[in-house]
Amino acid sequence: MFRPQHHDGESHDDADRDFNESVQCDGPPSSDSTILAILLEYSLSNEGVQITSSEVLENPTDAASLPNNGQLQSRKSKEHFMNKKMKAAQISKPGGEWELVERDIPEPGAGQVRVKVEACGICHSDMFVKEGLWPGLQYPRVPGHEVGGRVDAVGDNVREWKKGQRVGVGWHGGHCFVCAQCKRGDFAMCVNRKVTGFDSDGGYAEYMIARAEALAAIPDELPAEEAGPFMCAGVTVYNALRNSGARGGEVVAVHGIGGLGHLGVQYARQMGFKTVALGRGKDKEPLAKKLGAHRYIDSDAGDAAAELQKLGGAHVILATAPNAKAISALVDGLSADGKLLVPAAPNEPLAVSMMPLIAGRRLVAGWYSGTAKDSQDTLEFSALAGVHPMIEKYPLGRVAEAYEQMHSGKARFRVVLSMDV
Ligand SMILES: [Zn+2]
Ligand SMILES: [Zn+2]
Repeated sequence: MFRPQHHDGESHDDADRDFNESVQCDGPPSSDSTILAILLEYSLSNEGVQITSSEVLENPTDAASLPNNGQLQSRKSKEHFMNKKMKAAQISKPGGEWELVERDIPEPGAGQVRVKVEACGICHSDMFVKEGLWPGLQYPRVPGHEVGGRVDAVGDNVREWKKGQRVGVGWHGGHCFVCAQCKRGDFAMCVNRKVTGFDSDGGYAEYMIARAEALAAIPDELPAEEAGPFMCAGVTVYNALRNSGARGGEVVAVHGIGGLGHLGVQYARQMGFKTVALGRGKDKEPLAKKLGAHRYIDSDAGDAAAELQKLGGAHVILATAPNAKAISALVDGLSADGKLLVPAAPNEPLAVSMMPLIAGRRLVAGWYSGTAKDSQDTLEFSALAGVHPMIEKYPLGRVAEAYEQMHSGKARFRVVLSMDV
């Protein structure tokens, strides 16, 4: 969400570059025709990471004293974990370096669970935490909002989650239930909504605390390292497409084939749309086709909007490449009543002429991620339809290297920290 563009100084003309994509990357990402996840295993190394110790600053236990079995179990669990430590990767000041620290394992309060993290994706928006570019951040902070793991302990007043259950935690870290939007049931638009890894510590750690309403159940067939990226990148594009109003057989174009776009193409195909991938250069075509695109349009070779009009215009264009100029030009590729959806923000404002919008009743709109239930739908659809993220896996101890791989745009296409290597 809200990833600004060009932090790595890439050219603004790089229309095809998604947040985790680079034009510098050599070679095809996979020779596997089944689009299975790419798992690049690296050996555990703490080299270059500062090891310090740190106090847990939040989520103190608030165990009630009601004499029931659940409470006794909860107390037993606390005793078990008392004095136990966990590894976490934190940022202790805006612009600070990665620090691998030992912390006390936190206890879940009322309405919370403790999650034993198995994998956590590195999202481009984690940069906001690292660089201190998000309002109200408090440090030290453990980022991470693409979490796959298991419920490890359950706080008071949590009825729907059990210890041992496989869960994901995503961008949406919880909501207040009492604001006007929550009362209407629109929890994603809660005015007091929380962001995992921003307002509380996230998944760059062996354990984390999550609010019960922020959990999504992971289907058995999905490994944690695939579930993680679905919790932000996946739900963002899946939820945008399924709420776009496009109907089966209509033209849906996905602009950019990167961290978001490589999932967007798969979802668009699996949802039954006539799927068009828009990228820069002929070399992206084989991958786009393998991901499920019916058509590939090389925007370097000509006017992408004109090519879309040859197909009758796109009912929906999902713009995932953070390039304001390229996104603006796509308006001319929309059909009547077509919609240009932008789920991730470029730094520059769009320059859009109103005439094509008025004449064709077209829309340019933003899209905001989704709730935990939306994420669970994303996980279930992905398992059902065989949608897979392409990932590079690093151990937590190599967080600095993993983050740089994401930030440089060289990753194909999501970088995931793993706690079990
Ligand atoms: Zn994210
Ligand atoms: Zn609310």
